[in-house]
Amino acid sequence: MTEEKVTMNNGQLQVPNNPTIPFIEGDGIGPEIWKAAKTVFDAAVKKAYDGQKQVNWLPLLAGETAYKKTGQWLPDKTLATLREYLVGIKGPLTTPIGIGHRSINVTLRQKLDLYACFRPVTYYPGTPSPVVHPENVNIDVFRENTEDIYAGIESDVDTKDAEEWKSLLAKQDKLSKVRFPDTSAFAIKPISKQGSTRLVDAAIDYAFANNRHTLTLVHKGNIMKKTEGGFKKWGYEAAEKYGDKVFTWNQYNQIKADQGEKAADQAYQTARDEQKLIVNDVITDNFFQQALLHPEHFEVVATMNLNGDYISDALAAQVGGIGIAPGGNINYQTGHAIFEATHGTAPQFAGQNKLNPTSIILSGAMMFDYLGWDDVSNLIRIGIKRAIKSHHVTVDFAKTPDATVLSTSGFGEYVAQLIEEA
Ligand code: NAD
Repeated sequence: MTEEKVTMNNGQLQVPNNPTIPFIEGDGIGPEIWKAAKTVFDAAVKKAYDGQKQVNWLPLLAGETAYKKTGQWLPDKTLATLREYLVGIKGPLTTPIGIGHRSINVTLRQKLDLYACFRPVTYYPGTPSPVVHPENVNIDVFRENTEDIYAGIESDVDTKDAEEWKSLLAKQDKLSKVRFPDTSAFAIKPISKQGSTRLVDAAIDYAFANNRHTLTLVHKGNIMKKTEGGFKKWGYEAAEKYGDKVFTWNQYNQIKADQGEKAADQAYQTARDEQKLIVNDVITDNFFQQALLHPEHFEVVATMNLNGDYISDALAAQVGGIGIAPGGNINYQTGHAIFEATHGTAPQFAGQNKLNPTSIILSGAMMFDYLGWDDVSNLIRIGIKRAIKSHHVTVDFAKTPDATVLSTSGFGEYVAQLIEEA
């Protein structure tokens, strides 16, 4: 197969018929789930395009496997290749332990400036769930991926850094706010207008393109007024740039202050009738409560890095847990994107051919959506849907007496067969 690259041209992704797509198998259960996923991807591409289009999969090293072979956790060649080929997919990677080592995932996101972590959370009927109505959860989470406390600017107790920060706080008359200054570690939480705006823009563009009618900004701005409060303020400003196509809670409050509650309610109702995108906000702790009680109130959520980490796992738990939750890390401006299983390497299960490959399979469906190969992504989702509905599942999903327990590879083959028959 000739080598063809995905490129970005004037803000549009250009996808050749035989694109080269780099992949990282990952550590622990990574190689097993990747193999099962590849079986599914190849079956779906073949069914959709009958040889007219094909993926040329390009293996890359990262994580523990890379460290053993090259002495580097993230080899320069891997990063350069991901940069060159724009779109890739990966399994989970071991986080190196020890001073000076950072998570490889966080490094990849920061090096490629993959600012939007997109995690759609949807229920597949038949999936075991701890809640009564998991089908009410259909929430697309956009998590900012490059700033917040993840910047990794921390200093330990009793270090030169901590001393310098303390003297800066003393100069600013703020040291008295630190309850135990001599035994405190410190961290910096950068949240910028630029970072917040591009993330909220991505969430809004997605909402428009996918017929979603509510976007909720989730923040803890009541306590962190400048950082998380800044995200809320810049989020509303970003939304209001879209003019007539949106109606924000900011605007609602303005109308209420100027003309009273009835006029504000009327404006809100009119905006809904005209199918404008409603942009509102909610404080993070309340979001967790509301997302359990009334998940149907939320469609698209935009939030910062740490909130997004918690939120996406908590929502995923309602629809079957991390074994099924997919994700993508995307820079919509440069086109760079890495789709990935959202769970870790589950090292205690490595080599057992037992755990669930659905997270990486559905991440692949997201990747094909992104490439514009919708026929492929639809087939993948049909295969997964039918397998789960008929209770042909891996052990973690086998909660009914009629369940047929499949191995990781067996599940991949079963889904591929369903795709062939679709
Ligand atoms: P983990 O996600 O690997 O495992 C936690 C538990 O979740 C497992 O014991 C298992 O019961 C369940 N689980 C995970 N994947 C599953 C699957 N596909 N099917 C069914 N059940 C599944 O989390 P951990 O044990 O905290 O982390 C192990 C390693 O993975 C660490 O090195 C961690 O840093 C790394 N990690 C990597 C990523 C990533 O690469 N995206 C994410 C999280 C953790």
